[in-house]
Amino acid sequence: MTVTVLLLPPTTGYPGRIEATALLEGPRYLRTAAMTRWHRPRSGRRDHTDQVITYDLWCGPYIREHLALTTDTVPAGDLICATCDGRAVGAGQETDGPPGRTLTFQPRHLTPPRNCPGSRTSMFDELTGGRVGRCLVCQDHHPLRAMGGPYESRYAITQHPPGPRLVRPCPFHRWKALTARGGRIYCPCDTELTA
Ligand SMILES: [Zn+2]
Ligand SMILES: [Zn+2]
Ligand SMILES: [Zn+2]
Repeated sequence: MTVTVLLLPPTTGYPGRIEATALLEGPRYLRTAAMTRWHRPRSGRRDHTDQVITYDLWCGPYIREHLALTTDTVPAGDLICATCDGRAVGAGQETDGPPGRTLTFQPRHLTPPRNCPGSRTSMFDELTGGRVGRCLVCQDHHPLRAMGGPYESRYAITQHPPGPRLVRPCPFHRWKALTARGGRIYCPCDTELTA
């Protein structure tokens, strides 16, 4: 049996004359093949010109129906977008939702980055010999390479995972857009970051 949920009116988008019909019901969960988690529809519409159905997701993006995979029960182990699910249930689209589902929401910039922010930058101290640098962001030693092509060539430290002495993040901006001045590491808000 296919579970459909009641959709909200598509109040966003479509400035000017509306050449579409607002849908009243939609699938419980949907995603495209490229998406890594299941989402929920907030609203939907059928375009009058090409009859294409579009679902707006609670978390922001939209999915065209012909690209959508839909399901009532998310397979065990699959992840569900917590922004979509929380808002759908909170808005009363359904009272609770299927039991045992795995919600996920991964805020960006909270965990250390996969590559050290010093990677491929000039934030390094050259060590004797000139082939290896000490990363000013994480203190690890890595090879130096010419990067940027023949006309704008510069030396940079190669890409590397953050070392154990990665600077502590700015309380506001974490490790975003770091710069080096006088051998010290700064956040764009001018907070100096130290290990
Ligand atoms: Zn979502
Ligand atoms: Zn580093
Ligand atoms: Zn900052």
